[in-house]
Amino acid sequence: MSSPEPLEERAPEGPKTPPAKDSMTPRIGVFVCHCGSNIAGTVDVSKVREAAEKVPGVVVAKENKYTCSDLGQEEIIKAVKENDVNRVVVAACSPRMHEPTFRSCIQEAGLNPYMLQMVNVREQCSWVHSKEKDRATEKAVDLVRMGIAKAEKLVPLEAREVPVEQSSLVIGGGVAGIQAALDLAQMGFKVFVVESEPSIGGRMAQLDKTFPTGDCAICILAPKMVELARHPNITLLSYSEVEDVSGFIGNYSVKVRRKARYVVEDKCVGCGVCADACPVKVDNKFDMGFGKRKAIYVPFPQAVPLKYTIDKDNCIHFKTGKCKACLKACANEAIDHEMEDEMVELKVGTIICATGFDIYVPMKRGVYKYWEYQNVITGLELERLLNASGPTGGHLIRPSDGESPKRVAFIQCVGSRNKKIGNDYCSRVCCMYSMKNAQIIKEHEPDTEIAVYYNDIRAFGKGFEELYHRVREEYGIEFIRGRPAKLSEDSETNSITIRAEETLLNKITEREFDLIVLSTGLQPSEGSKRIGKILSLSLSPDGFFQEAHPKLRPVDTAVDGIYLAGCAQGPKDIPDSVAQAKAAAASAASIMAGKKVKIEPLTASINEELCIGCGLCVEMCPYGAPEIVETDNGTKAKVVEALCHGCGTCVAACPQKAITANQFTDEQIASEIVSALGGMEGTNGKARKPAKKAEEA
Ligand code: FAD
Ligand code: SF4
Ligand code: SF4
Ligand code: SF4
Repeated sequence: MSSPEPLEERAPEGPKTPPAKDSMTPRIGVFVCHCGSNIAGTVDVSKVREAAEKVPGVVVAKENKYTCSDLGQEEIIKAVKENDVNRVVVAACSPRMHEPTFRSCIQEAGLNPYMLQMVNVREQCSWVHSKEKDRATEKAVDLVRMGIAKAEKLVPLEAREVPVEQSSLVIGGGVAGIQAALDLAQMGFKVFVVESEPSIGGRMAQLDKTFPTGDCAICILAPKMVELARHPNITLLSYSEVEDVSGFIGNYSVKVRRKARYVVEDKCVGCGVCADACPVKVDNKFDMGFGKRKAIYVPFPQAVPLKYTIDKDNCIHFKTGKCKACLKACANEAIDHEMEDEMVELKVGTIICATGFDIYVPMKRGVYKYWEYQNVITGLELERLLNASGPTGGHLIRPSDGESPKRVAFIQCVGSRNKKIGNDYCSRVCCMYSMKNAQIIKEHEPDTEIAVYYNDIRAFGKGFEELYHRVREEYGIEFIRGRPAKLSEDSETNSITIRAEETLLNKITEREFDLIVLSTGLQPSEGSKRIGKILSLSLSPDGFFQEAHPKLRPVDTAVDGIYLAGCAQGPKDIPDSVAQAKAAAASAASIMAGKKVKIEPLTASINEELCIGCGLCVEMCPYGAPEIVETDNGTKAKVVEALCHGCGTCVAACPQKAITANQFTDEQIASEIVSALGGMEGTNGKARKPAKKAEEA
């Protein structure tokens, strides 16, 4: 293992390494980025460059204002060519940001793209040590020298290409999934849409109107739902669940469970005669429990597909075997009580996860008494009560007596922006949907007195501020800044008094209302953990799916070929969900259009001679990449490269040291450690442990 030479023994300046006799003798180029003042504002970039220049093997070291810019990249290409450089160190931002940029850059200069070592002197130095300039510089110098030590040991690698299936899986048939599927289908790709409910449509299908424009939600959604069902390139698997996904970008195998509807889809014409005959009435989940439906049902009249489903839990036939009313009523012989779940296998190249959100359910013993007082409802329940095709035909009532409420209060931020319950985030739609619904109530019943209790009003989107002003000024909606502390019900009238501190007036007030609407927030959908596990997706701290990069890769995930759309990634409104769906579709299409995809060579590889086939790597790998195979030399592990993410878990787990992670070999990592411990010139003059001792240690 080589160790860095003590700096005192080196020549004071200039390239020290003679021209390479063979091309793999390290000739390293170091490029230190200012990133404007992002790095240079804290780190003394010139000092870092000067220190790098003195390390043996470094033949050229330069500073750039913005290394990722055209100019910066040209400078790298020029320096590589002029100095016969065969390894490049870029000291700049996180490799998550620009590693691909610099790989392409050095490839353009004629090098193998994997002969690049990035050193993160922005996130790891200037940003975290902005108040300690000297120490930030010292750390940057150390990190750069470690990078140089690793660069010496880099080896060229070759990416492999694999063919891509020309089809995509969209999980979730809300507005985001619908849009993504339509876009892909229109581009000519085959799309499978898997929706867990009997109908597509998601939450948008439940809404009355949509802010800020007031369009009727189902009127703009239904044509898209129908288009999806009729599109020749789309196969809709409704009332289905993804059970398993294996494979890798371009080549995913998917197992889907088609849950038994007990109605044969091909025979059912959606006439509803069966539901008329069915004697069972249960709360309609789609109407948030306000309306009733039968045990054989479609969730809503515009459902797609318009095929009936038997709700097994409530069906008399399944409970006692004593009813066959629907079977007798159906002229098309569509009812099949013996139907069983069916497994379908799909091959797809890309996957879009659009599983949406769930509504926050107010706490059982919370201040807002949702479970105690009938006249406390949620925003989504209000949507159903205001909806013309809802349980009351669009007539707003108080649940306690069916009367029209004359005084309505909205309470904002219920289940959002609340550290205590773990939902720290803003749900982004509840300020606006409250204003929208307040306006609708006023349009129906202009005399209604409406107050909105809020903490902050968030009206950030196009046309949102205008809606805020409109409801205040034109419709006379009152906005009260203050979080209600107590709700108490008059047991005779069922009216509710809100006690709140009005922070703008600096006083405590009590006001009585007929109906309270809790503006409940959005939270990750119930099944997201399960689907996340199946797809190997990580969740961000808020519980929604984590995107690969919040700014530069907002629809990608850490798993190649899997994308996010809509509220699965975080709370958002319809325009943002649709925009993200379009982006996800475009990203998936760009992979499929290429017909072939490159597989990163930064994977683990197994030394067959050392492997004893114990299978620990198979157990430990989070991506299912290693497998046990029989070879001429006995039972051995083999890594399926396309599945391997190069995370190194198996490398650490292998008791035989039989696994190596490409470009993260023991030798490469040790060279960095030795360099880190080996002393440094120009770092506050502090003496460090001599390299030799460090290596021995
Ligand atoms: P969803 O609508 O939640 O759809 C997700 C779909 O995925 C569902 O069909 C679900 O059944 C399915 N699914 C979930 N898990 C699985 C699984 N494992 N397998 C298969 N399928 C699965 N936005 C506006 O712009 N304007 C408004 O006026 C407005 N009003 C709103 C009012 C309320 C009360 C609420 C709560 C939200 C409102 N929104 C509004 C926001 C709007 O509802 C969302 O932006 C939109 O529904 C997001 O669509 P989505 O497809 O991402 O998610
Ligand atoms: Fe009509 Fe039969 Fe379908 Fe029921 S199951 S809707 S009766 S076709
Ligand atoms: Fe209704 Fe009877 Fe059919 Fe059950 S079996 S859905 S109760 S008609
Ligand atoms: Fe609160 Fe408004 Fe954010 Fe909803 S959108 S969490 S009501 S601030």
